[in-house]
Amino acid sequence: MRAFRYESLPGRVVFGVDSALDVASEISGQRVLVLATPRGLPLARRLAQPLGDRVAGEFTAVREHVPVAVAEQAVACARSLGADCLLAIGGGSTVGTAKAIALELRLPIVAVPTTYAGSEMTPVWGMTSADGKRTGRSLDVLPSLVVYDPSLTMGLPRELTVTSAMNAMAHSVEGVYAAGANPISSLMAVESVRALASGLQAKDGLEARTSLLYGAYLAGAVFAVAGSGLHHKICHVLGGAYALPHAATHTVVLPHVAAFMDGPALAPIASALDALTAAEGLRALARRVEAPTSLVDIGFDPAKLAEAASLVAARVDVAEDAIRGLLAAAL
Ligand code: NAD
Repeated sequence: MRAFRYESLPGRVVFGVDSALDVASEISGQRVLVLATPRGLPLARRLAQPLGDRVAGEFTAVREHVPVAVAEQAVACARSLGADCLLAIGGGSTVGTAKAIALELRLPIVAVPTTYAGSEMTPVWGMTSADGKRTGRSLDVLPSLVVYDPSLTMGLPRELTVTSAMNAMAHSVEGVYAAGANPISSLMAVESVRALASGLQAKDGLEARTSLLYGAYLAGAVFAVAGSGLHHKICHVLGGAYALPHAATHTVVLPHVAAFMDGPALAPIASALDALTAAEGLRALARRVEAPTSLVDIGFDPAKLAEAASLVAARVDVAEDAIRGLLAAAL
């Protein structure tokens, strides 16, 4: 076996149907700032209700990709309330907003995810401005507690369920060849791909949702230690420069990067998908679950192909021609 490094990250995970109902009992903070989108606020209020007057306030101005202005507003809100704990209930955008506060004020985060984005398992933060997206790693933003409750994902619409789960799948597929790939995270990656594929293809219900959320948890944990590579860099450029939707972009690009990276590292992913190659398995899965398969369909202007290829090529060690071919295939 080749030598490897594996960094085990701190943090407690509670997983189970209805586990979020007890989240308040896991929180020791006395001035808790609750973060949610306006749509997620009724749920957040219900879960935070047992905290009583330990809820210092609510922040609901959450936006996708955490614009710097929103991050500043969130930090100011936490500071003015004297918050000592952040309770983030929602998807990657809500968790990302809590991370922006934690980065500045070093407050602990309790995360209750309601999508499959996986941000809650990583020490990675991200913020966007007119100059694009800035990301970084800091243990200060890693949630100290994550409560996974599959029942909270029951209302996730089918389209978002599919793209969010494929976004998680992308963390695991990339996790087996990214710079930090190691045998431990690869075990989680393969299990995650199995759980996600099985949850996506099962009849919708609590069992399927449990499988999806378990797969998403593992995918986030893989992403946290193995890091990202070509796939994420492409999606980063497409999302940042052309404002394409995050999860749908990952969904469309995934089989194409898998085909490009095809090799022994991806064999366990192929086997988890019961296919000859990972790309073939991902394409078949996308067809079966009616996932989006075209960049144009999710809002990309084909006239920008050469420009996008050049933007990606400036960030990766792959020839621009090859990137152009890959993006053309994804059109
Ligand atoms: P999101 O948080 O923006 O949520 C997408 C939409 O789904 C929103 O409109 C939200 O209100 C709705 N929603 C959320 N939960 C729902 C539910 N249970 N039922 C119905 N609707 C629901 O999107 P996302 O895909 O969860 O997260 C994407 C963001 O997370 C991106 O900004 C991405 O960069 C970031 N991210 C960060 C990391 C990291 O490690 N830092 C990892 C993955 C994703």
